[in-house]
Amino acid sequence: VGGDSFAVIFGLGGSGPAALGAELVELCNGEYTVGERSVYAPASVGVALGRDAEDPLDLLRNAELALVQAKRQGGGCARVFIRDFAALAPQDGVRLESELRQALSENQLDIFYQPIIRLSDGVLSGFEALLRWHHPVKGLIAPSDFIPHSETSGLIVSIGRFALERAMRDLANWQRFFPLAQPLFASVNVSRRQFRDTEFEAFMGKLVAQSEIVPGTLKLEITESALGADPKARHALERLSALGIGLSIDDFGTGLSSLSQLKDLPFDTVKIDRSFLARHGGTQDEHDGAVILGSIVTLAHDLKRNVIVEGVESEAEAQMLRDMGCAYAQGFYFSPPLPASEALNFIALRYDTMEGAGSGPASVG
Ligand code: C2E
Ligand code: CA
Ligand code: CA
Repeated sequence: VGGDSFAVIFGLGGSGPAALGAELVELCNGEYTVGERSVYAPASVGVALGRDAEDPLDLLRNAELALVQAKRQGGGCARVFIRDFAALAPQDGVRLESELRQALSENQLDIFYQPIIRLSDGVLSGFEALLRWHHPVKGLIAPSDFIPHSETSGLIVSIGRFALERAMRDLANWQRFFPLAQPLFASVNVSRRQFRDTEFEAFMGKLVAQSEIVPGTLKLEITESALGADPKARHALERLSALGIGLSIDDFGTGLSSLSQLKDLPFDTVKIDRSFLARHGGTQDEHDGAVILGSIVTLAHDLKRNVIVEGVESEAEAQMLRDMGCAYAQGFYFSPPLPASEALNFIALRYDTMEGAGSGPASVG
């Protein structure tokens, strides 16, 4: 069931589950002779009972939880699954991980799209793709509740590919149904772990080659901290950019780097974190936030980068950004992230007012 773990299924015999576990541990505890050498391969054992599980996956998960407990006790011993282990699961991450794997294979993951608006005239420019998990029991789960864990486990690589493929397909459809002088774009978040994955560039190359989107309209959002100071990261960005992929620096201002340090990197957009809209009351705070925001906007525009300010929640904030000459914004004031079907409606309702609308063969089926 894993690189170095095995599952054994028993019909319930005379000896109870604990004795069975101990017996397995004992069996593995022996000494093996390989060639001239003595080899020891002790095992930790997690036992789960069929009657405690709803289905085979649940049974495996319970056994894994018991195994974690056995290892925590130093290993080389057996533990039987008890209900309490399930309560420990969030910290263990074991349950979360197997649930996430299931979510991937059973299409429980989804992408919502949050509109990005041109401030000068309120025209829709594109969308940010944001993961959601339709959990069969817990309902809709936000990415902050499962992405950090999937970063650690490495599952983010598969989850991220799902997000990229889905966003690419939706973007291609929008562009086909709604041709525009300035085509809509889609912006997809990419975490450090994904960006560092050795297969990432090859995957992106294939994704772009197979699609029919307008070059530059698929964008990746990468945070400053995900880039790090690594010169290799810079070269990777250059190759992605050469593939016709747009690049945005996400959550700008929350890290330590400054725009002048980033000016040599090949990104076209800066997304300014919503904390700069400092709405937590203190007038001095608000004033400072606005001053910093204004100077980032000016500097980014001078460096010929697009600017998107995130988390705009009121007309007053939108107006302040317009006054600063900030080009784009995103936030609950314009729209929360929408399911794909609602994003399609969002475009359709505004399509007539957008430049170059109907300039190609459009038909919405
Ligand atoms: P982010 O990239 O900073 O995404 C923006 C977050 O701000 C989203 O939360 C969005 O729903 C929220 N937001 C938008 N407008 C407003 C507003 O006006 N006010 C407030 N208070 N919040 C607003 P969400 O969807 O929960 O995403 C959280 C984070 O999860 C994202 O932060 C991103 O870092 C990560 N994430 C989401 N989707 C993906 C993905 O496909 N791949 C990877 N690697 N990370 C993802
Ligand atoms: Ca983002
Ligand atoms: Ca952000």
